[in-house]
Amino acid sequence: MLSTGTTRLRAEDPELAGLLEDELTRQDETLSLVASAGVADASVLAAGAAALSDVTAEGYPGSRFHPGAEGFDAVERLAVARARAAFGASHANVQPHSCSAANLAVLTALLPVGGVLLGLRLDAGGHLTHGAPASVTGRWFRPVSYGVGDDGRIDYAALARAAREHRPGVIVAGASAHPRRIDHVRFREIADEVGAYLLADISHVAGLVAAGLHPNPVDVAHVTTTSTYKQLDGPRGGLILLGRDHDRPGPGGASLARLIDRAVFPGTQGTPAPAAIAAKARALDRARGPEFERTARLVLDDAAALATALRGLGYRLLTGGTETHMVMLDLRPDGPSGLVAERALEECGILANRNSVPGDTAPPTVTGGLRLGTNVLARRGMGPAEMARCAGLLDRVLRCAEPVDATRYRLDPVVRDEIRAEVRELTRSFPLPGRPVPEGVR
Ligand SMILES: *Cc1c(COP(=O)(O)O)cnc(C)c1O
Repeated sequence: MLSTGTTRLRAEDPELAGLLEDELTRQDETLSLVASAGVADASVLAAGAAALSDVTAEGYPGSRFHPGAEGFDAVERLAVARARAAFGASHANVQPHSCSAANLAVLTALLPVGGVLLGLRLDAGGHLTHGAPASVTGRWFRPVSYGVGDDGRIDYAALARAAREHRPGVIVAGASAHPRRIDHVRFREIADEVGAYLLADISHVAGLVAAGLHPNPVDVAHVTTTSTYKQLDGPRGGLILLGRDHDRPGPGGASLARLIDRAVFPGTQGTPAPAAIAAKARALDRARGPEFERTARLVLDDAAALATALRGLGYRLLTGGTETHMVMLDLRPDGPSGLVAERALEECGILANRNSVPGDTAPPTVTGGLRLGTNVLARRGMGPAEMARCAGLLDRVLRCAEPVDATRYRLDPVVRDEIRAEVRELTRSFPLPGRPVPEGVR
């Protein structure tokens, strides 16, 4: 079915087909250290392209608002069972179209409009949906924030003080740009002390959690959310998980699980995306296998090796190191801006995104930091030895790109071509796994 579609796509729309095939090549030939990236297996992509997508079925398995959902019911039940198994959860909602949508649903379930929301500040590594002013979560609710200490780690004493002062209805534990483990137990103690619900957002570390290599907050927090396309190697989408508090009454008296389900549909979403849910089921099954665990271990070993190598080259790392897949570089005050670093690296075939660091005075479009992650490199089979090489390549680009100002730089084209050739050699030795590569490329 998929191959018929591919054949027709090539025949009837060579322009689009060409763009999609070029993208396979681009992914294969670049060295991605984008911390939020994963690699969806071909079987996940196939499930996501299924004709199941044509099923319109609002509601949940067994209680749909449309006929013809029998097959989809079975798929959604399978996805729920696999989500529960992968995370040891008592209840799972697999319908959120993204983790942002999941967070919005959870917040609308647990907080009234104008309710106080306590989250990690954006420049300290928090996510937009944790109450940033640019997000609807920062406008419908009353956002207050906590940050990190001088050591770059979450300042739990300051968090507790903020909670006592502001009496939030919801506290969010979780980050987009923080390389350390989060102490969910401490978060829960603080939440209980002030009568707040605790939302753990594990969007970035869900794969490590599923592999048992990172503390699992599902039974600690009231509600846990995640993306499915980052470390879970699934389709774009989100999940909501509940543990031991699933049947506890929430605001209004219904159980938390029921409140969350209602907040997803009909609260904030309409029809679910059936093929995406099939792809989530496929990814969640893969996330329970021994190969996934081996890869997750490699992700951690690689991040530790990358951190060591970069420290050795004189770079300043946020918190001094890592306990996850993520390494955060603080390029200030002498290095290039995050934007210049990102652009120069991309020109050489290396991908890593600019990111604000605590106390950053540069605007969020420029920043003084660079966020690195090892998800994709580990999935290509690169180990700690290759991390030393990657660190060397990064360092060469960052040293050779001469900043003109915060957004522009000069890079000798000869040096650029040398680095590109080395990147190509590395990517050729470690091809992206499970991807069909267009004929004639390899
Ligand atoms: C990436 C991220 C999200 C948003 O996920 P999407 O699925 O892209 O909407 C939410 N929370 C955190 C902590 C993230 O890092």
